[in-house]
Amino acid sequence: MILDYTEIPQANLGGGLQDTFELFARDFLEDLGFEILQHPDRGADGKKDLIVGEVRKGVGGKTIIRWLVSCKHYAHSGKSVSDTDELDINDRVAAHKCQGFLGVYSTLPATSLNTKLHGYGDKIEHEIYDRERIEKELFKHPEGLKLARRYFPISIEKYITQTPKPVKIFNEATAINCEYCGKDLLTTKNGIFVVLSDQNEQKISRSGKKYNPEKYIYFSCKGECDLRLDAKYRAKGLWYTGWEDIDDLMIPTLFLKNIMAYLNQLSDMEFSKEAHEKMKDLYINVFPHIVRELTEEEKERVGSLMEFGIF
Ligand SMILES: [Zn+2]
Repeated sequence: MILDYTEIPQANLGGGLQDTFELFARDFLEDLGFEILQHPDRGADGKKDLIVGEVRKGVGGKTIIRWLVSCKHYAHSGKSVSDTDELDINDRVAAHKCQGFLGVYSTLPATSLNTKLHGYGDKIEHEIYDRERIEKELFKHPEGLKLARRYFPISIEKYITQTPKPVKIFNEATAINCEYCGKDLLTTKNGIFVVLSDQNEQKISRSGKKYNPEKYIYFSCKGECDLRLDAKYRAKGLWYTGWEDIDDLMIPTLFLKNIMAYLNQLSDMEFSKEAHEKMKDLYINVFPHIVRELTEEEKERVGSLMEFGIF
């Protein structure tokens, strides 16, 4: 669950304000495409029920189905909506000349209520939007998300922090492509960059001069693509010396750590011009993904790497 329904204040706390949950239900149903036929009224005495209309198109033209809406906001106590919370459903629906009963609940309907509703059979239609179904509907499209942001600002803020999207810094979307299959490794969660060397070990030439092996880089998917690329480079006399997860690089802290490690290596290792360009490409393309806070999951990943002394 992303939405914390307790962000909407408890009903009937006085102050002459309409219940916020009722307003939310109205906006939510309107967003779903229902027409608001009767608004919930202000104040305790003139309390009116919410009635919405649904336009159905059939061979005989348009029909409007009138739904009586019942809003129950029990999120603060967490209790489900039982049959005794919804008395005289039949009579209430008939009194408002409605054909259907629609529940909008911030918790779940209890089995007793489900049984009662099913007991009506074909007599009245019924729909329940409980906390899970509401959330699902809201997250289906941008307008719903906008509505969710209005009523659940804290939940949505949290959700955005925990599901980061790259910021728009460059005109074009960034990508790092697998050298074998071409897939964008910034989206596959399966990408690595592999460091190769033109020598297995550092050698000292006959003249006594130290020879630093030159480094090469390739980007690849894990598995099959990596095997193929490894074979290709091996045939050219380049040997595997190490690899890193590209996904790790997309974690802000680890991005910085990796850049620092690379800069340190530059002082005592030779990188081919091409490898250096590839590293720059990698950092530039990953950058829009890391200009942000860490998610909870990333904090854990960084924490566990620190535990193992990798960081
Ligand atoms: Zn690939």
